[in-house]
Parts: sequence; structure tokens; C-alpha cells
Amino acid sequence: MKEFKEESLIVKTGMSMPHMDLHPETFPLFQTTTFTFDSLDEAKQGYKDMAKGENYTYIRTINPNRNALGEIVSLLEHGEKTAICTAGMGAISATLFSQLHAGDHAVYSNCCYGESLEIFRDILSVNGVESTAVNMADMDEVKAAMKPNTKMIYTETIANPNMVLADIESLAKLAHDNNAILVVDNTFTTACAIKPLDIGADIVVNSMTKFMNGHSDAIQGAVTSDKATCKKIESMACCLGTIGDPFQSWLVMRGIKTIDLRVPRQMSNAAKLAKALEANPHVLKVNHPAVESYPQRELAKKMFKDDESMTAMMSIVLPDDQELMQKFTEKLTFAHYVPSLGGLRTSYQQPVTSSHSHMPDADRRAVGITPGMMRISVGIEDPEDLISDFLEALKVYD
Ligand code: PLP
Repeated sequence: MKEFKEESLIVKTGMSMPHMDLHPETFPLFQTTTFTFDSLDEAKQGYKDMAKGENYTYIRTINPNRNALGEIVSLLEHGEKTAICTAGMGAISATLFSQLHAGDHAVYSNCCYGESLEIFRDILSVNGVESTAVNMADMDEVKAAMKPNTKMIYTETIANPNMVLADIESLAKLAHDNNAILVVDNTFTTACAIKPLDIGADIVVNSMTKFMNGHSDAIQGAVTSDKATCKKIESMACCLGTIGDPFQSWLVMRGIKTIDLRVPRQMSNAAKLAKALEANPHVLKVNHPAVESYPQRELAKKMFKDDESMTAMMSIVLPDDQELMQKFTEKLTFAHYVPSLGGLRTSYQQPVTSSHSHMPDADRRAVGITPGMMRISVGIEDPEDLISDFLEALKVYD
């Protein structure tokens, strides 16, 4: 059969379901808690068919909107199966709880989304799972942290918010040589930039609240892997109640269909903005893989297609003067404070007051998170408008 491109397949995938005789142009919303049966025998048959994915029973166990969205995420991430969860954290918690058990050890990135860190530090630890936080940019440190009972290496492709890049191929090799698995959170990069499963990761998680949906109006998460592993994680999510609901899946499905239009433009804008900010003397540091001062620049060039296909996220470090930072933010026309990321509009956030507010200050500073750090999620605006607006606002530091 002819091989079609992802951009074509994404609009065609997830459009059918068992028992659908009509052919609506968009996949309908099945906002119902249950599917009914006319008799006991029909119900028994319904449950049998459900086990084969050919019928529906109860909304939390299985629902058509979740399945349809899962097909699209599997297509994007090159996985066999995807479990759709209530949120990125629902996907991450179900993955960690199903894959790690008392007596196991995990190695995780010392710079991740704040609540992912909390699961390792405060929740898994009291459930008998020991873990070691490491700098993912330092393979020697990662190697030294491995123990005979290490079952997992957990990292973000590009870390929130210090933008450290994980060498997924090397980490996968290290994990597999030690009978462990590699779990990658691809939220900051998305499958448009990189497909971690293609380069050795075993499980990829995404917060679809961000770029996957892209419209800042839905919350959901996804776990993608081989079928057997995904089924286990999905069962865990069903028990925890962190499995996705139809309406959020329907919303995310509407957003994800345009990911191949939105995210490449956002990534291109981000690379241009990062380079312009790097050249500005008031910006002490620009954390984005497209700038020459990025410490892992060579690895970034190897891992991504080009500078404009890396990520739409960046963080910048400004002087630790909160009054001037306040003035700077007041001057921005397009970027505005959003305690999230991945929407159509450019936004910023201060990690110390938001995503990393629960992280101990010493741990934050050790990974470069200071009050002067601003995390930026770049939108689809005209890049020249965006750049001139940032440069104009930076004049408050003159
Ligand atoms: N992973 C990353 C990298 C994130 O930035 C976030 C949230 O900002 C999450 C996971 C959690 O996603 P959600 O808010 O959908 O639970």
C-alpha cells in the first residue's frame, strides 16, 4: 500500500468506531456514562465484545472518544497503543504506579515538571520505591546512579524549565543494558519535533493540555507504548480514576488535528525569538537548543531536523530585580502570564511562583531556576511582531 505522510493520515485517523453505520464528517461526542443492552444475554455478549475492543459498556472502562483520540496519538508518537488520561499528571502517575513497585529503584531527572518531581520525592518514596535525582545532561552521573534494582529512567525530552536535553538514545541503551525501561515526557517538544519511541524509549507520556490540544481549553494526558505495557497502564488509570472522559477527548481531538500546522510555526517562531533574545545584552541567558550558547548544542543538532524544529518552549534568565521584571512584563503586548503552556498565544510564566513553587529553593537554584527565570511558550503570532515587542519591552533595563 502507498505510504502516506503524517499530515495526511492525522486528519483521516480516529474517524470510525464499531457499530457506526452513519458517517459524520467529524467524530461525534458520546457524552453518555453507559451503553445499554436489551437483555442479560446481550450484556454478556457486550462484555465479551468489549474485551476485543468491539463494544462499549461503562464510560470509565472504555469510551469511543478516548479510543479515537488514542489512535491519533499512537500515529503521532509511533506507538502501538495509547491510553488517554484525565491530565498529563494522570498519565504520568498511572505510568509510574503501574511500572514501579516496592523495592524498585528509579533514576529521574532533577529538573522536571514540579509535580512529576513530587511523585518521585514525596509519593513513591513512602510506597517503598527509592529514587535518585540526576542531571540528565551528565551521562556519567546517570550511569553512577544505576543500581541492581533500577527499573526505570524517567526524563523529559527537554526539561521544564531549564531546557536540559536528554540524550534519549544513550539513556535507552543504558536502561536496557540494566534491564530497566526508559520513560520520556515529550510535552515540551511534541511528536512534531521528535518521536522518542523511534530512538529507544519504551514509554512516552504527553500532557495534551499543552501543544497537543493547543487551544488552552481542555485538560488531558496520554501514555503511548507497546500494546501489553499500555494495557497495564490503562488498567491502572481505570482503577485510579485517572482515565480520560469523552468531552475532553473530543476537544483535544479537534485541537490535535491541526498540530502539524500549529507546532512547526511555533517552533520556528521560538528559534527566531531565542536568537534575537540571545543577542540582547539585558538577557543574561537564553535556554533554547537553537542558540549557539546552549551547552548541549551539538547534541541538539544531532537529535532534531533543524533549529526551527526543536521546541516552541524556552526559558530566559533576567537580572533578579523583581521590580524591573514587573515593568518588563507590563510592557509586553502579546506575551502574558499563563500558568500553563502550549497555547496559540505567546505566554510567559515564572517557575518560582508557579510550576516549581513546591520545589525546595536550594534544589531549584542547583538546576538554574532563579526568580529571574522566565519560561516562555511561543505562539503563532508573526515572528517579527513578537521579536520587536520583546526587544521594546527589554528597554526597561536600559
Ligand atoms: N509534563 C510537563 C512537562 C508539564 O509541563 C506539565 C504541566 O505543565 C505536565 C506534565 C502536567 O500536565 P497536566 O497539567 O496536563 O497534568
